[in-house]
Amino acid sequence: MAIIGQKNPNSNLENIGIKNTLAQYWNITPEELIEETIKRGQGVLNDTGALAVDTGEFTGRSPKDKFIVCDSITKDSVDWGSAFNQPIDPSVFESMYAKVTAHFAGKDVFVRDCVACADDSYKLNVRVVTEAPWASMFAGNMFLRPTREEIKTFDHDWLVIQAPSFMGSGAEDGIRQHNFTILDFTHRVVLIGGSAYTGEIKKGIFGVLNFVLPHDHKVLSMHCSANVGKDGDTALFFGLSGTGKTTLSADPNRPLIGDDEHGWDDTSVFNFEGGCYAKCIDLSAEREPDIFRAIRHGAILENIEFLPGTRTVDYASKAKTENTRVSYPIDFIDNALKVSRGGEPKNIFFLTYDAFGVLPPISKLTVSQAMYFFLSGFTSKVAGTEMGVTEPQTTFSACFGAAFLPLHPTKYAELLGQKLNDKTYINVWLLNTGYVGGSYGTGKRMSLPHTRALITAVLSGGMDGVAYENHPIFGLAMPKSCEGVPSEILNPVNTWADKNAYTAKAKDLAHQFNKNFEKYASHASEEIRSAAPVI
Ligand code: ATP
Ligand code: MN
Repeated sequence: MAIIGQKNPNSNLENIGIKNTLAQYWNITPEELIEETIKRGQGVLNDTGALAVDTGEFTGRSPKDKFIVCDSITKDSVDWGSAFNQPIDPSVFESMYAKVTAHFAGKDVFVRDCVACADDSYKLNVRVVTEAPWASMFAGNMFLRPTREEIKTFDHDWLVIQAPSFMGSGAEDGIRQHNFTILDFTHRVVLIGGSAYTGEIKKGIFGVLNFVLPHDHKVLSMHCSANVGKDGDTALFFGLSGTGKTTLSADPNRPLIGDDEHGWDDTSVFNFEGGCYAKCIDLSAEREPDIFRAIRHGAILENIEFLPGTRTVDYASKAKTENTRVSYPIDFIDNALKVSRGGEPKNIFFLTYDAFGVLPPISKLTVSQAMYFFLSGFTSKVAGTEMGVTEPQTTFSACFGAAFLPLHPTKYAELLGQKLNDKTYINVWLLNTGYVGGSYGTGKRMSLPHTRALITAVLSGGMDGVAYENHPIFGLAMPKSCEGVPSEILNPVNTWADKNAYTAKAKDLAHQFNKNFEKYASHASEEIRSAAPVI
């Protein structure tokens, strides 16, 4: 067995149960990983030097196959009532761990030593063990990268073992089907089998941090992007998938802290990661120049198609999936911070993709409204791919990330609420990056330049002096004007041809909000409940 690359001389795979492998590649460089990928026929280069791979059967995460081991640590603390926190018995984990580790016998294996959390008080050493070189490169792109010196003494706190070619047997193995992601807090392992979708690695550790930070440190963990202005004013952008976290946080005038996962303690906001994972669908140099430029040597494109006869990416193609992605180290964004940390936020944006065209492009929230919208976590999506289905589908995902939250949503909401109540200078805004001028089918997607103009106005103080009016149903304060944005789009009713249809749709959405919020009625204070829409 050959050992190639850099490692702590005291580390070995035998200690974690992986024996009789072929070659072991420890912390080899991105260039070597690219070579290994191409040599194995698992990827090709595009015309800007990025590595393009296919993730196979899975081109997205599989929430129904994510499990948390119910042990002495998690038993009384995890919110087992959530559909996303499925308990699994320790014995299932143990037998799957034995099978997955045995599966590496006779195979090449890639090991990558990584760090999560750009703040020494919370940092986790994560060792990622994979079958494929490009999955190892993905981990290197996405997590923080220890120096060669640090690798010599690296010991892991958490282990991620990813074996896409290992197929579970479903019920016989105590799982749902052939693929699985199992989080075990006693052994500190994220065990992934049957799926090569790299997002399982990234979001597996996100799930871990969403437990550890609030539970052990009383630190708020957040599904948001973050950037910082010249005066050190941090802005956060919360939102579910596709609402604009990555797109809107890449701003030439505001250094990037991170595009997806952050913590907020008493004094600062810090990134969990060292890279970005951007959507590629319909990407263009004009609309998203920073992301476009990041697609070069060292970046990994997933599940894209090339224009026929070329190695030029066809960003419009959905042939493999709509969820085409690129991962790159954060310093591929021109003005990313060297250390991914910023001061206390001054402005928080909640991004929502409202395919009904009801919510205003921007509104300012009171603390109660902020708590109400945070717990609600509303977004919607267009059913899209299925023929003839045009009704948008509503999603309420608590704290804009229910799929990744092991604890009850109120735990995160309490931490946010304390900050908003203590620090009254923090403003919270709701941005609708979805539809304007009608629902999906009649309206159109909110213009990206207009959304950017609204954000720029807020961050430069341009929204402080303007007049506001309240939304009749949602009670949201809508500015009457904003530089760079036509005033008539700021109140959504004005953009609908049929005003009665608007009001009916708004009532319909308000009803859905109220219905969803029933589950928090006993948890939320009277003040928060008073922020509900009134029909
Ligand atoms: P994920 O959590 O899956 O990473 P995300 O919140 O980071 O999702 P983005 O990757 O930023 O989402 O995706 C937003 C997409 O919507 C981009 O493709 C962007 O070009 C497009 N878009 C179109 N109009 C707007 C708008 N007004 N605001 C934001 N994004 C827009
Ligand atoms: Mn993103």
